[in-house]
Amino acid sequence: AAGLVLGLAACSGGRGGTGNADDSGDANEGALVGIAMPTKVDQRWIQDGDNVVKYLKEAGYETDLEYANNDIPTQAQQIETMITKGAKVLVIASIDGGALGQQLDDAKDAGVKVISYDRLLTGDENVDYYATFDNFKVGVLQANSLLTGLGYLDANGSKTGKKGPWHVELFAGSPDDNNATFFYNGAMSVLQPLIDDGTLEVASGQTKFNQIAIQGWDPATAKQRMDDLLAKSYSTGATKLDGVLSPYDGLSDGIIAALESGGYKVGSDTWPIITGQDAEVASVKQIIAGSQYSTVFKDTRNLAKQAVAMTEALLKDKKPEVNDTKSYDNGKKVVPTYLLPPVVVTNENYQSELIDSGYYTEDDLK
Ligand code: BGC
Repeated sequence: AAGLVLGLAACSGGRGGTGNADDSGDANEGALVGIAMPTKVDQRWIQDGDNVVKYLKEAGYETDLEYANNDIPTQAQQIETMITKGAKVLVIASIDGGALGQQLDDAKDAGVKVISYDRLLTGDENVDYYATFDNFKVGVLQANSLLTGLGYLDANGSKTGKKGPWHVELFAGSPDDNNATFFYNGAMSVLQPLIDDGTLEVASGQTKFNQIAIQGWDPATAKQRMDDLLAKSYSTGATKLDGVLSPYDGLSDGIIAALESGGYKVGSDTWPIITGQDAEVASVKQIIAGSQYSTVFKDTRNLAKQAVAMTEALLKDKKPEVNDTKSYDNGKKVVPTYLLPPVVVTNENYQSELIDSGYYTEDDLK
């Protein structure tokens, strides 16, 4: 298989000719770019895929967009096929960031450049660039919005003077996704001092990443964990659950489902503050309806533009623009990164952030 990959790469004209930048730029005109996305379960990846394809086509490139149904071998196979088909650049949003070493090595052997998209590819040096949102900041924003919802902070992020204590439970993302630890570390940089000084109480006692992580970002697993937490720590009525740190809208859905089946009523005094991430349509509706307090909006149009700008630069033998060269060590190298800013969205600002910006229409959110 490796021979076949190399053979095809040689026929379709890799780099190495004269070394002249213009020659190489022309050589890659209309080149094929492979885009590997994890799943369609999380709505954002559909928007990511569509946007990357749109901007690549506008720039005159061919595209092969594949979704892997959150199945690691499927994604590995899809990437192998892209290399065999002669893709010149791979844009990869991995399922398990550490599971694609063979594919990254094969890409390197075939002269294919690799851009890690949103999630860092880890444990392999054949990752050229990384385009993502400031993942630590996402966690900070989630924690701060939890504190605003609880009443510890006001809308400007200043302390209100209220002292709590508030009872909260914490959720984290999938351990095989490098982002999950960044979200967790960002959130805990805000929450841990308040847990330590008693402002926040976690009745389950579960605050360590491995105690609160949800494998595969699976909503049903989050529901199960929330069911268990309610039964074990909040069933006697002695402790009121005030808030839940959720790092992703899909997990928030599972948490909300558990609360509803546990007899909690949206809009009542006992309904907790719940955070999220991705500004999924269903979740923004939940924010408007009051069952979810906040989400973190990451404008996939901007991430797609950034990844396409990186792709174009690589295909034209230019240096892609980066703004972070120290945060993302993948275990083998520090991957040069372009970080975009995430934004908190609540009932107060969804109109300006999501509708006025053209990300969604008014009708989408009805
Ligand atoms: C992404 C988030 C998303 C999560 C679940 C993370 O890697 O950065 O935007 O919520 O995966 O799909």
